[in-house]
Amino acid sequence: MSIVKIKDKTFQTSISEAEIKQRIKELAKQVSHDMEGKNPLFLGVLNGSFIFAADLMREMTIPCEISFVKLASYQGTTSTGKVKEVIGINENLTGRSVIIVEDIVDTGATMKQMVESLGTRNPASIDICTLFVKPDKLKEPLDIKYAAFSIPNDFIVGYGLDYDQQGRNLKEIFTLVEE
Ligand code: 5GP
Ligand code: MG
Repeated sequence: MSIVKIKDKTFQTSISEAEIKQRIKELAKQVSHDMEGKNPLFLGVLNGSFIFAADLMREMTIPCEISFVKLASYQGTTSTGKVKEVIGINENLTGRSVIIVEDIVDTGATMKQMVESLGTRNPASIDICTLFVKPDKLKEPLDIKYAAFSIPNDFIVGYGLDYDQQGRNLKEIFTLVEE
C-alpha cells in the first residue's frame, strides 16, 4: 500500500491501475456492443474525466466521436451544490446517441443538470457512463447505465480526479485518510 501527501491531506491507495484498466476495457466492450451502428458521441465532463475518456475511447471497437464540456461544482473536498458551465457544447446533438463521460457521480446534481440541459437539444438518447459512483450519497434519481466502480462515501483522488487541482496525474486511485 502506498501513501501520498497532497497539500494538507494524506491519501492511501485503494484501486490499482490494473483494476481500473480492466474495468474500463469491460465497460468499453459493453458500450461497443450496445451502440453498434449508432456512432455514439461521448461527451466528457472536464476536468476530472479527461483520462477516463481517453482510455475508454481507445478501448472502443466501433466508430464513435468525442467532445467535452466543462462544469465545476467542487471546491476542495466538498461539493458546493451549484454547478457552473464553464465551456459549453458546440455540436449539433439532434438525433445523436450521447454518452456522458463522468469521473464520479456523488450527489448526482451535476449529472441531473446535464441530462436536463442535453435533453433540450433533441438527442436520440442520453446515457451516463461514469468511472465511479457513490451510491450512498446519491440524492437525485438517476439512471446510470454504465458505472465502472461503486465506492464508499470517501473522497478519492488520482486517475484524473483532483484534490485542489493536484493529484490528477496519479495512476492509481487514492482514498483520503481521515485524521
Ligand atoms: P455531484 O454533482 O454528483 O455531487 O458531484 C460530481 C462532481 O464532484 C464530480 O464530477 C467530481 O468532479 C466531484 N467529486 C465528487 N466526489 C469526488 C471525490 O471523491 N473526489 C474528487 N476528486 N472529486 C469528487
Ligand atoms: Mg466531474
